[in-house]
Amino acid sequence: MKLEGTVVAAHGRHYLIELADGSTLPCFPRGKKSELACGDRVQLERSGEAQGVIDTILPRSSLLYRSNEFRQKLSAANVTLAVLVVATEPSFSDELVTRCLVAAESQDIKALIVLNKCDLIERLPDAEAALSPFTRLGYSILHLSALGEVDALRTQLAGQTSVLVGQSGMGKSTLVNALVPTAGARTREISEALDSGRHTTTHATLYRLPDGAALIDSPGLQEFGLHHLSRSELEHGFREYRVWQGHCRFRNCRHDREPGCAIREAVEAGDVDASRHDTFLRLCQQSRE
Ligand code: GDP
Ligand code: ZN
Repeated sequence: MKLEGTVVAAHGRHYLIELADGSTLPCFPRGKKSELACGDRVQLERSGEAQGVIDTILPRSSLLYRSNEFRQKLSAANVTLAVLVVATEPSFSDELVTRCLVAAESQDIKALIVLNKCDLIERLPDAEAALSPFTRLGYSILHLSALGEVDALRTQLAGQTSVLVGQSGMGKSTLVNALVPTAGARTREISEALDSGRHTTTHATLYRLPDGAALIDSPGLQEFGLHHLSRSELEHGFREYRVWQGHCRFRNCRHDREPGCAIREAVEAGDVDASRHDTFLRLCQQSRE
């Protein structure tokens, strides 16, 4: 008999699937190559007392992933909102924020930046200055202290399947524990099912929130490779380019050193952030296309 479920944790080729009744079942995919992400909806069959085999991945509405030269890594499927967690301390990489935003834009996933540890008020001005390019682009920035009140974030997560992304040390785990009272229980459940008791924190994990919302916590990351995106997908990911698109002299303009490049002129006029544009050019060089 075919069952349907949702991937709530992924560990190599070993997945923990949540079934309709809320119970979970460790499963393997039937095919050799299929790779699943947390949040994927699947069809499966029981293959034993406490194990199942995944037959089918149901169509995804979105897929957030990153890649280097060699391979790609699926982060989260069927997500509607990407929450990028940064903090007043330690300092964060604004290039990493840009890369996460580009990944989200390329999948038409909404993005929200959370500035955590706002209780460290002496660090606040520097953090706000670092985020000002993103504010100017119209991204929402939510000020928060994971150690205090997190209702403002809870409101944003309502009705969404969200993924939390961020460098380690920004307070992502603290935030998850504040938002999801049962987080500890789920972590134990996953580590028993997939790790035979070893505690690793490398899993992406899906948590249920009230009223059908869900939250996927992805492991802390130091880099977010975008080798899989084509030049036009990258261009789409930089929302500040949209007003200038189609205004370059050459239709195949690379926005680098071409004469009559509208985007280059916008950079020189200070209308487009120069460091974001540098990131764009670097990403284009790495594009596998
Ligand atoms: P993660 O690596 O992103 O999961 O970060 P953690 O949740 O482990 O937090 C890293 C450190 O920051 C811990 O020492 C937390 O106690 C601390 N921390 C997290 N949130 C806050 C906050 O809102 N304010 C302050 N002052 N410290 C925080
Ligand atoms: Zn151009």
